[in-house]
Amino acid sequence: MNDDDRAETVTDEDEDATRFQMRITLPTDENGYTGRQCPDPACQRYFKVTFGTGLPAVAQSYCPYCGHAAEADRFLTPDQRAYVLSIFEGEVTNYLADQLKPYEFDMPPTGPFGIGLSLKIETTPPPILHYLEEQLETHVICANCTLRYAIYGVFAYCPDCGIHNSFQILQKNLEVAEKIAASAAQVDSDFDPNLAAQLIANALQAQVSAFDAFGRETCRIHAAQATSPDKVENLSFQNLPGAQKRVQQFFNLDLAASTPPDDWQFACRCFQKRHLLAHKAGVIDEDYVKRANDPQAIVGHKISLTPDEITRLAQILSLMGQHLVQELTPSAAAPDPTGETPESESRE
Ligand SMILES: [Zn+2]
Ligand SMILES: [Zn+2]
Repeated sequence: MNDDDRAETVTDEDEDATRFQMRITLPTDENGYTGRQCPDPACQRYFKVTFGTGLPAVAQSYCPYCGHAAEADRFLTPDQRAYVLSIFEGEVTNYLADQLKPYEFDMPPTGPFGIGLSLKIETTPPPILHYLEEQLETHVICANCTLRYAIYGVFAYCPDCGIHNSFQILQKNLEVAEKIAASAAQVDSDFDPNLAAQLIANALQAQVSAFDAFGRETCRIHAAQATSPDKVENLSFQNLPGAQKRVQQFFNLDLAASTPPDDWQFACRCFQKRHLLAHKAGVIDEDYVKRANDPQAIVGHKISLTPDEITRLAQILSLMGQHLVQELTPSAAAPDPTGETPESESRE
């Protein structure tokens, strides 16, 4: 998005071809963001961007929530529109006053009756309607075009390039999970022998949650391509063989195709471990033995989980995520599997 885009132009043209034109720069908030609102009447949701950080020139912008595309200057918020109009009205008032100024006169009282006449042009421009931008929940720097933008929720289309951020969010969450697992090595096991294991378990839970949220969102935004679009929103990715079956059924693509069989089996086992941790306090049951293909599993014992497994699973989930996005969006730029993102997302 170009720096020039921050200037909104208001033009008035009368029948005598007198042209009144001005450029008004919209103020930014304390973090350099300018508010925007989706012009689609069915959406009208609010977000913010930092002009000058994304594409060098954009003819159209995208709504981060619904993906609606329209000319960039159609994303004014009602507050910004009122602000621009109040400045415009003030300028027009001053302009008209200047035009009438030459007709001012002041005739002092003369003659036997002492009558005088005067005309004085005095105007009071309307007040400028200032406003405050809203505080939003998630700040993103687009991995594709570097635009800084802020939204409610987490998932979004980039307002400049239109790329969806689901893969970027997955990468960031996988990084966070790896950091949680790595912190287990810093724990003094004499002080708390269970803490390190709990941290690694938390990391696995975070990975599965991240992939589930990513998978659901990625399929949701491509639901129109599915054989049964209305069933896509019920898709879950917490059980990988189940997800593989339904993704194959709805989108005719194999979730495991990007993954060597050993890695796929390893990932499925990790997801089964997560299920045990979430629902069985991490204690192995018959169901786990049947599903997980885990040679070390003994019913009644606690499952084992190491930081290396978290690292390996992160790599596999990243490749699977990349594959899913590429297969559902063949024309889109391939997401970066290295996870190099310009900036982390954070909550305000
Ligand atoms: Zn919208
Ligand atoms: Zn972008």
